[in-house]
Amino acid sequence: MLNRRSFLQKTALLTALLGLKKSLFALPFAGSWRPKAGSSKEEPVVLSTWDFGLAANKEAWRTLESGGSSLDAVESGVKVVEADPSINSVGYGGLPDREGKVTLDACIMDAAGNCGGVCFLEEIMHPVSVARRVMENTPHVLLAGEGAQDFALSEGFRKQNLLTDEARKAWEEWKKERIFKTEINRERHDTIGMVALDKNGKLAGACTTSGLSFKLHGRVGDSPIIGAGLFVDGEVGAATATGLGEAVIKTAGSFLVVELMRHGMSPQDACEEAVKRIVQKQDFGGFQVCFLALNTEGEHGAYSIHPGFTYTLSRGDVHKVLESDSYTKK
Ligand code: ASP
Repeated sequence: MLNRRSFLQKTALLTALLGLKKSLFALPFAGSWRPKAGSSKEEPVVLSTWDFGLAANKEAWRTLESGGSSLDAVESGVKVVEADPSINSVGYGGLPDREGKVTLDACIMDAAGNCGGVCFLEEIMHPVSVARRVMENTPHVLLAGEGAQDFALSEGFRKQNLLTDEARKAWEEWKKERIFKTEINRERHDTIGMVALDKNGKLAGACTTSGLSFKLHGRVGDSPIIGAGLFVDGEVGAATATGLGEAVIKTAGSFLVVELMRHGMSPQDACEEAVKRIVQKQDFGGFQVCFLALNTEGEHGAYSIHPGFTYTLSRGDVHKVLESDSYTKK
């Protein structure tokens, strides 16, 4: 039994230890980050991965102009890429896994930290919208496979064949040799990740992909995983990733970028630092990883391991495809 004296002694000791731990933790970053006070009218910004982000950004911009939030904008924007059969790494038209199945990963997150995701989802055209329903209509964050599909059907989504003739032919071609290797840029994988800031200063992000082509059946990448393919902190910034999901998951990539911004880094420095963490620990010669980041001030950053990472930036009604700087340079 604790008597009052020993209880008080223990409590005092615990308080002292907690205080010490707190001040030690705060030391390296002391004073570097302040939450943003209040919110004024902001200049909206939309940022997305790759040049196929252009059509997506334009749609996201239309959503913002018609009064939609950044959450509405990122959802409507990435849906354009999900529905485009000519893009073979996202949604409809995505290249299948080794068994010839198109399996999709997606997630979405808002400034308050609400989020939802689906992974290993088949035959649903818009996984990002299912992810939003997971966020809004369930107590969960991530639904997988058949369960995710059942949920989508219960929410009124319909089953569709997402394997286009072109993707099926590519798979048949692949089956002749059955060689699996990760290639650096566009050829066999790519994700649309989008982050946006609306006129009310609210951030949001979405990320959606069919993942690595000819992957093992059941493989899930970084894109549906909050903190890996996407992370949003409404007081700091948002980040998204594309490239080899395994490498991004190993470093909790998007969370890392946002956390680095929290501790005072610019979006550009944070993306560069996150890439450095990967190249320090992993044998990066054969794969690509790219990060995009946006902070609450509307500043952005982009960086990749290898050259060739294009991204789309929209600001003040101007939409531009740019190429990021990279660790290995040209
Ligand atoms: N990150 C995606 C995945 O690993 C692919 C990509 O963005 O290239 O599934």
